[in-house]
Amino acid sequence: MFVTFEGIDGSGKSTQARRLAAALEARGQTVRLTREPGGSAGAEEIRRLLVEGDPGRWSAETEILLFTAARRDHVERLIHPALADGEIVVSDRFADSTRVYQGATRGDLRGIVDELHRLMIGLEPDLTFVIDMDPEVALARGLARRSGEDRFEDMGAGFQATLRDGFRALAHDLAERCVLIDGGRSEDAVAADVLAAYCARIGV
Ligand code: C5P
Repeated sequence: MFVTFEGIDGSGKSTQARRLAAALEARGQTVRLTREPGGSAGAEEIRRLLVEGDPGRWSAETEILLFTAARRDHVERLIHPALADGEIVVSDRFADSTRVYQGATRGDLRGIVDELHRLMIGLEPDLTFVIDMDPEVALARGLARRSGEDRFEDMGAGFQATLRDGFRALAHDLAERCVLIDGGRSEDAVAADVLAAYCARIGV
């Protein structure tokens, strides 16, 4: 079972990924919690190339290649082996982030993102939680916990609003595997919704 969490920066998806993993472990499941960009040693190295440095460091095309290279390593080294062992993989971001972020920045590159995914990744999640949130709220939360590591964090509320629209459209288009969750509530309420939707999807 491969479960992903998607959403704009500060939407709480990392917290919710952690909480779902903990809830499933408490039920006796073996869970591998991971993240993108990163997740494997090689992909974490590529993450540093992506998030550090000035915003103009890479062209949009090079950025897509780096995200895809990181994902390929993550899938080869961690996700496929864990799934083959029967583990539940919970990933904080996966390919939908590239579809939305890079597609939002450069709509004309969406075809390349999809083609590269088909050629080099292939894998799609069984279930995706799209945590939906007002960008102003998300930005305020994000600023409170900002790490300074990440050049992408400097993008403003206008860009986040475009991303939110992108994630909502994606959840609508891929409704067979996506569940849109209202992230603007308490952490506990969102976690309860996520767990209930997970159980409903897998029929327990
Ligand atoms: O989710 P996390 O904060 O770890 O992601 C790191 C940064 O990379 C985020 O600020 C996000 O905006 C950015 N990102 C991106 N394109 C992706 C995935 C993440 O621009 N495909």
